[in-house]
Amino acid sequence: MTRMLVVEDDPQLVRALVINMQARGYGVDAAPDGATALRLAAARQPDVVVLDLGLPDMDGTDVIKALRGWTRVPILVLSARRASDEKVAALDAGADDYITKPFSMNELLARLRAAVRRTDVPVAPETVLVTTDEFTVDLVAKKAGRAGRDVRLTPTEWHLLEILVCNPGRLITQRRLLQEVWGASHSNKTNYLRVYMAQLRRKLEADPSHPRHLITEPGMGYRFDP
Ligand code: CA
Repeated sequence: MTRMLVVEDDPQLVRALVINMQARGYGVDAAPDGATALRLAAARQPDVVVLDLGLPDMDGTDVIKALRGWTRVPILVLSARRASDEKVAALDAGADDYITKPFSMNELLARLRAAVRRTDVPVAPETVLVTTDEFTVDLVAKKAGRAGRDVRLTPTEWHLLEILVCNPGRLITQRRLLQEVWGASHSNKTNYLRVYMAQLRRKLEADPSHPRHLITEPGMGYRFDP
């Protein structure tokens, strides 16, 4: 059974989540505030955490930072529409993904399954080859291929691609990509990312203007969808 911790101060939403998730075989604990969440997370060791960012006692981002001090449990953030700064801050603090309110149970379930699956099968260093139906990435040989041919990538393109394919399905923020590839002093140069992602798509995607694997989340970051 998958154990889930719901951190949410809206009692109606909590009730709906508990009923729906229990009916689907999840074990659910609920915390109405950050302090209770941190206590329950330690006591119950959930497999996944669903966290509302607007909590009465503390900032949801601080709950994420506190959890990340000791656990890699997948954290899915619930956030209001248009609050994209808040979502980016949560992802940078270590959340795995977000879902925007209002959401459907099916949407939540799909995100939950993806988040739990990622922790079950992490991309280990011995994973040599990442394959999609359009291109392959050999992480050991540091080579990409398409239609049976090698694709020439610059070191910067490679670095960007490597981060994305090592985190399948996971939303990686613009800031994180910029910091890892270009360094901390470049963390606001989002135009670099647009240029390099466009180059990667031209080299790897069948239809670069409608990418199927190197996905943009507008204003937030990028996601590799295998
Ligand atoms: Ca709230």
